[in-house]
Amino acid sequence: MWSTMQDEPLTITQLLRYGTTVTASSQVGTWTGSELRAENYAELGRRCARLAHALRGLGIDGDQRVGTFMWNNNEHLEAYLTVPSMGAVLHTLNIRLFPEQLAYVIDHAEDQVILVDASVAPLLNKILAQCPTVRHVVVTNGPVGAVEAPAHITVHSYEDLLAAGEDEFGWPEIDERAAAAMCYTSGTTGNPKGVVYSHRSIWLHSAQVCMSDGMQLSGADNALVIVPQFHAMSWGMPYAAMMVGASLVMPDRFLQPEPLAAILAATKPTMAAAVPTIWQGMLAQLEAHPQDISHLRQVVVGGSACPPAMMHKFEEVHHVPVIHAWGMTETSPLGSVARPPAGVTGDEAWDYRYTQGRFPAGVRARIVGDDGAERPWDGSAVGELEVRGPWIAGAYYRPDEGDPEEKFRDGWLRTGDVGKISADGFLTLTDRSKDVIKSGGEWISSVDLENAIMAHPAVAEAAVIGVPDPKWDERPLVAVVPKEGEQVDLAQLREFLAEHVAKWQLPEHWAFIEEVPKTSVGKFDKKRLRAQHAEGSLNITDFQ
Ligand code: AMP
Repeated sequence: MWSTMQDEPLTITQLLRYGTTVTASSQVGTWTGSELRAENYAELGRRCARLAHALRGLGIDGDQRVGTFMWNNNEHLEAYLTVPSMGAVLHTLNIRLFPEQLAYVIDHAEDQVILVDASVAPLLNKILAQCPTVRHVVVTNGPVGAVEAPAHITVHSYEDLLAAGEDEFGWPEIDERAAAAMCYTSGTTGNPKGVVYSHRSIWLHSAQVCMSDGMQLSGADNALVIVPQFHAMSWGMPYAAMMVGASLVMPDRFLQPEPLAAILAATKPTMAAAVPTIWQGMLAQLEAHPQDISHLRQVVVGGSACPPAMMHKFEEVHHVPVIHAWGMTETSPLGSVARPPAGVTGDEAWDYRYTQGRFPAGVRARIVGDDGAERPWDGSAVGELEVRGPWIAGAYYRPDEGDPEEKFRDGWLRTGDVGKISADGFLTLTDRSKDVIKSGGEWISSVDLENAIMAHPAVAEAAVIGVPDPKWDERPLVAVVPKEGEQVDLAQLREFLAEHVAKWQLPEHWAFIEEVPKTSVGKFDKKRLRAQHAEGSLNITDFQ
């Protein structure tokens, strides 16, 4: 028997319509370096209609891909809403990719139009000649002269195109299962892989972002969106904001601690989201230049394990709760959020908050051992995390090209993350499967060691990798970045660590480094650290 309910498709068009009419007075603003360049959602709606006319004029009339090579800003939000609502597919390009990877993903997705911020045009210029599918480049926030295009590409001014458009657009009917947006993720091997979100997956994920036990985004929020729009769709905040009318603050290219502190002071956001490295930098900034940030009712941290020491500092010194979350590009990205269950307080609540969080109803999870067998949810059995659900990828774009890492198995996404799950559904990750240190048949969590070392007051950052060992197979090596102006003695630091970890886990190899290398999305780049170790460029002190 079928239901008697209407079959209204869950589309981004619906979010665009709601956000720009019912919550028309909410606003999105972009930081210019000294102030906020804001537009309210009514204006946003009109500019989206104008952009749609412009893109139609450039031949976007079906599911063609429109790339964006932009910072988080007003224009990027306009593209986020317009491109999928026209029935086309938004392809967010990571401005920090190596040129060859960038050319590869543009070609693989067959982008026809690229919107580019003038400030990053020089990066795009390098590879446009290798992009045969691209026919138009549209320049935002700067002169068209910023783009040097080969003959097959026409360059346009974004504002000129919008000026020629109209305030209304006849948005088409769209199947909720159709592609809305795509984002490439860098695997451990081979080329980047495309994750293609549907209207439906984005709609359902947006609801999860807004849920009280999710990221809790509400119409009362003014949210600072630090996670790049080219990284896992800014963790879904731009679309979720349209669902509830939350206002957004976009930092544009001002992502260093000092300008971020200025943005906080000027715009007083009520929530913000970013990877731990951003918040570590912010803590150091606030230590040097104290500032009240208690207007933030929460900050959401994910993308890498959040060091507990950082959570305590934010809460105890700055009165801002840090909410830990886990996810990946393939999971839209929200997979779990660490909010303690009802009635739990004190240290027990902290123990819940340190975890990667609890799975929501939309995410089914299991952990699987090396033998492929499912392991129990008992808080101690460890295995690879696998997930499924309506906003979890079931394949990469062009599955006929094969799945070199066999990321999908029987309808489950193999996350490559290793961890355990408690009986009440909280996930604790111990490592990436490729980062776990295999020592004498036992596994050492690089993340546990990093968290313990980063709790030392003189340590700014620490990264741990496994290095080959003739006796144990692998042993941990610690790369330490001391805080500016602090003297750190490695032997003493090792003694400090010995108080927190089992003796057999205590690393013998230590090195000071100036900075932990970071990936294009700001995570610790252990691949590069391993390469530095292999080429002998780390100055290592060995303990016995
Ligand atoms: P990306 O697709 O670039 O967002 O990367 C996803 C990966 O980031 C996950 O598979 C995890 O390895 C890692 N990650 C995300 N959130 C967390 C977290 N809270 N703790 C530890 N690792 C995380």
